[in-house]
Amino acid sequence: MKKITIAIDGYSSCGKSTLARQLAKTLNYHYVDTGAMYRAVTLYLLQNQIDFHHSDMVTNCLSQINISFGFDEATQTQITLLNGENIENEIRINPRVASAVSDVSALSEVRKFLVKQQQVFGQNKGIVMDGRDIGTVVFPNAEIKLFITADPKIRAQRRLDELKEKGQHTSFEEVLANLEKRDYIDCNRADSPLMKAEDAIEIDNSDLSREEQLELVLSFVKNLSLSLN
Ligand code: C5P
Repeated sequence: MKKITIAIDGYSSCGKSTLARQLAKTLNYHYVDTGAMYRAVTLYLLQNQIDFHHSDMVTNCLSQINISFGFDEATQTQITLLNGENIENEIRINPRVASAVSDVSALSEVRKFLVKQQQVFGQNKGIVMDGRDIGTVVFPNAEIKLFITADPKIRAQRRLDELKEKGQHTSFEEVLANLEKRDYIDCNRADSPLMKAEDAIEIDNSDLSREEQLELVLSFVKNLSLSLN
């Protein structure tokens, strides 16, 4: 079957990564979590005490940041590496990363730096990439574009459960406030704001199970592949 590009965008904690991972596994495609890349840059800035309000300082340090993905045999999951170090857990649970990442992601130099790498990852197709600007900026010609939404309270509960599973205890209100703040900044920034691409298919997964959502998207892929072959 001809390999295609699948771009998944949407609000925070909509289950984009779960869907992207399931699709990549089923189709034997590569999966790239671009949110992890923005989180990795944010962690680097925090670790090195670089004030992200000074865009010059941020721009100057980007050449020292190397982000790659690996595979953890023990958990059988993809992991994110920052300059060779496994930062997977840290970027998911560190509240300072969650609170700063949308401000860091609004910086044009950071976006340019990461978008270039994302386009290289996808140059041979056979890729599922999720984020906020994949169908609009990174791969405007992707064969399948999805825009995922869900009720904010359902998203906050899912994120709270995920954090609990990782041993991180916080309140529902705190998680909801962080989601809403990130959504606001992501939708209102000047460079590549989060928006639905004109040709994206919108899926509200508030009442869908993971399996139902996967089935639905696989049916789109199958229909498209039939027409391409
Ligand atoms: O997907 P995730 O929630 O891990 O992304 C963290 C943050 O990274 C988002 O809130 C957003 O500010 C930023 N991001 C972005 N563009 C992407 C992916 C993520 O601006 N393509």
